[in-house]
Amino acid sequence: MASTSPSPPSGYRGRLAPSPTGYLHVGHARTFWTAFQRAREAGGTLAMRMEDLDADRSRANYADAALEDLRWLGIRWQEGPDKGGPFAPYVQSKRRAIYLAAWRKLVHSGRLFPCRCSRKDLATAVAAPHERVQRGFGDGKFDKLDDEPLYPGTCRRFMGGSPQLPGPTADAMDTPGNTNWRFRVPDGEVIEFVDANLGPQRFVAGVDFGDFVVWRRDGVPSYQLACVADDAAMQITEVVRGADLLKSTARQILLNRVLGFNDPAWYHCRLVVDHNGRRLAKRHDALSLRALRQRGLTPMNILAAELPVEA
Ligand code: GLU
Repeated sequence: MASTSPSPPSGYRGRLAPSPTGYLHVGHARTFWTAFQRAREAGGTLAMRMEDLDADRSRANYADAALEDLRWLGIRWQEGPDKGGPFAPYVQSKRRAIYLAAWRKLVHSGRLFPCRCSRKDLATAVAAPHERVQRGFGDGKFDKLDDEPLYPGTCRRFMGGSPQLPGPTADAMDTPGNTNWRFRVPDGEVIEFVDANLGPQRFVAGVDFGDFVVWRRDGVPSYQLACVADDAAMQITEVVRGADLLKSTARQILLNRVLGFNDPAWYHCRLVVDHNGRRLAKRHDALSLRALRQRGLTPMNILAAELPVEA
């Protein structure tokens, strides 16, 4: 009898990386569907990774809801918190050792410096008053990952030590301690990449983004660090995500270079906007997959709808 065993997966490895900080909305549905399609068309593997490092905002019920909503849409993955797989665990809060190893490598490369600036110092130094409100500085949190303000350079001078403040001691180079650690970007360097959806992209370090946090004083690795460490460890070959993360991609290319990781291919999806042209956020409850499903919409209604996208 002829064998009907499935063909082995191709080398393509993609991932879905929701943050369980709210219910997923139609914008997420679009992006995750694209990631699913691209992995499927390539005959590859898709990994689900729960990005729950922000303990203040992450909730277990949102993580469960994300898996359920994506399954309801028809999205399937081969590895994940619910399935296991060769790169388990697939939950970021359980992968600390991997992030610590990456942080140590960065600190030994000489590109990190401890930063003592408070969020308040930075908000005052960097943002014009109207921006502070828009960017969510009011409550001391950043709404969007790409919103980290351009760092004014205050603590850069502590790199390698200074008469007032010594550089990192051997101990400090082994454990991050309770200080922020920033990556010193190569000012003026152009970071270019060709996005598989949006075409050529170009960012200038020190202009489009500044020295960014890789480890937070509360002991949590930043999104940028955790993301590159995981994408490398999970052997991801293409990252599909929203266009709100384009500048993060430029930062991650710099991190990959210093860490000796290969860059995956990049595919950024245009962002769905609401009727006022504003990007969807998890606060848009009416457009959450949950709410739409409760109103009787089907996955097909959601995926086939003509939705306005950011230019
Ligand atoms: N967890 C991030 C988010 O939900 C996405 C990270 C990524 O795809 O790199 O915005």
